[in-house]
Amino acid sequence: MTNRTFTMIKPDAVENGHIGAILEKVTSAGFKIVALKYTQLSRRDAEAFYAIHKERPFFGELVQFMTRGPIVSAILEKDNAVDDFRALIGTTNPAEAAEGTIRKLFATNISENAVHGSDSDENAAIEGAFHFSGREIY
Ligand code: ATP
Ligand code: MG
Repeated sequence: MTNRTFTMIKPDAVENGHIGAILEKVTSAGFKIVALKYTQLSRRDAEAFYAIHKERPFFGELVQFMTRGPIVSAILEKDNAVDDFRALIGTTNPAEAAEGTIRKLFATNISENAVHGSDSDENAAIEGAFHFSGREIY
């Protein structure tokens, strides 16, 4: 499944009214949306999704942030999807993100950074399956 990645539009970007603009950037960059959902993570969901970060000092803040409002989750398809999507969104800290990237345009700060992008093909598959059943992927 090397042509797929998983993304979330995070609560800050939803609150700030950027769902439409971000989806437009994503599809304009050549990604096809194969699954899409407007939903809200429970505390348990967020702790499981970000379990890899549970020893990090910002874990509590991250769970609090990711559960405070709705998100948009999606599976995206394109050649080289994981790497190309990470390039499109920019660095974790928007202050360091390249001009034109989604985080540069729409993120607030390093903890409220507008979008998630999977960091490997393996995690893209795990994260996509966390959010979508097979019959929700087209
Ligand atoms: P994501 O996994 O959301 O795409 P990323 O891969 O760029 O982001 P990670 O290192 O996986 O960055 O961190 C996951 C998330 O945790 C970040 O997107 C951000 O919301 C939060 N985070 C990361 N580092 C910090 C930090 N130093 N302080 C506060 N929050 C942070
Ligand atoms: Mg990450």
